[in-house]
Amino acid sequence: MSTGLRLLLVSTPVGTLGSGRGGGVELTLAALVAGLGGRGHRLTVLAGEGSRLPPGSGAVQLWTCPGHDQPSWQHQSHDSAVQIPADGLLPALWDRVLQEQGSFDAVLNLAYDWLPLWLTPHCATPLFHLVSMGSVARVMDAVIADVARRCPGRLAFHTRSQAADFDLPGPPLVLGNGFDLTAYRFRAEPDPEAPLGWAGRIAPEKGLIDAARVAAGLGRRLLVWGVVEDAAYREAVEAAVPAGTVHWRGFLPTGELQAELGGCRVFLNTPKWNEAFGNVVVEAMACGVPVVAYRRGGPGELVEPGINGLLVPPDDLEAMQAAVLAAESLDRLACRHWVERHASREAFAGRVEAWLLAGLEPGSPAGHSLQGQTAGRTPDAGT
Ligand code: UDP
Repeated sequence: MSTGLRLLLVSTPVGTLGSGRGGGVELTLAALVAGLGGRGHRLTVLAGEGSRLPPGSGAVQLWTCPGHDQPSWQHQSHDSAVQIPADGLLPALWDRVLQEQGSFDAVLNLAYDWLPLWLTPHCATPLFHLVSMGSVARVMDAVIADVARRCPGRLAFHTRSQAADFDLPGPPLVLGNGFDLTAYRFRAEPDPEAPLGWAGRIAPEKGLIDAARVAAGLGRRLLVWGVVEDAAYREAVEAAVPAGTVHWRGFLPTGELQAELGGCRVFLNTPKWNEAFGNVVVEAMACGVPVVAYRRGGPGELVEPGINGLLVPPDDLEAMQAAVLAAESLDRLACRHWVERHASREAFAGRVEAWLLAGLEPGSPAGHSLQGQTAGRTPDAGT
């Protein structure tokens, strides 16, 4: 029996693991740690200093690097240049990768950054990227297109809508995302007087202000969970609706978040950008909460109208108000079942594993930039 792959998982240079500042990447990383670890692979996670691995990560090694956060790409303009601060975390992480790469069969990058993408054809150990956002800037579009062309098989995406942002030479590899279903308790009934819910980074591209206006229009309370990334935007949301509409619940760890999410009658998702996936949409469904979302980006693929929620035209607040009322009567168990069928951690880890193994096969197009040092390996379990 083989001992599985030796994998180096590289986290985002925005925030530390556990802080919430890395957004959905933190949850994806947690799913991969458990899912790939459970399939017999030997994992090392590389992340910013102060990071914590999720509880139960067992034999997984954590390496950390000091350094200043990378500015988030989602807050740059389309023509922005690549910026790297002095003493930046991003080059520190990738310096470590280049030094240690000989001890691994593959490196899996979860960060949406130019430097690791650019390194792809130059790294001796095969370097794979799970791209976590859609198009935000020309320079990122160009490097993603370049990797897709020069190193086939090294890129994967969360949804088709996200991948459609990029100039790819062939059909994209779409892997979805994965959730630990045991971490989300199904709630057959919402709380009496159950309010509406919204979760995510408090930042303009996530569109909380629309959800607040919808709640105000219906005379409902809106519970909001998430890291305040943009304090001025939070104030603008607060000022846009009658006092008491928005209940700021702060950033909660998954265990506490799911307990509160499950009490909601309907969950709103109102992205202003091409949301790559929309973890919170699936987390709400996993608790049995139907989701009303804009037909835009990942959530537009995750919501199956009439099954686990409803979709409305992007930015149409009136349509969203009507959809909230209609979604209240959807079957909460069907929401949970949808997640079990489409977004379990185990199935996601299996898809990621298949991608890596195919890319490591000798002769795979993904291996064309390598120097013949890779070996396809079979994991111990789950194949
Ligand atoms: N989240 C959390 N606690 C909170 C609010 C949000 O842990 O109180 C997490 C949530 O579980 C999700 C992430 O924040 O994994 C947000 O990811 P999403 O894909 O929705 O958006 P992103 O921030 O990546 O744009």
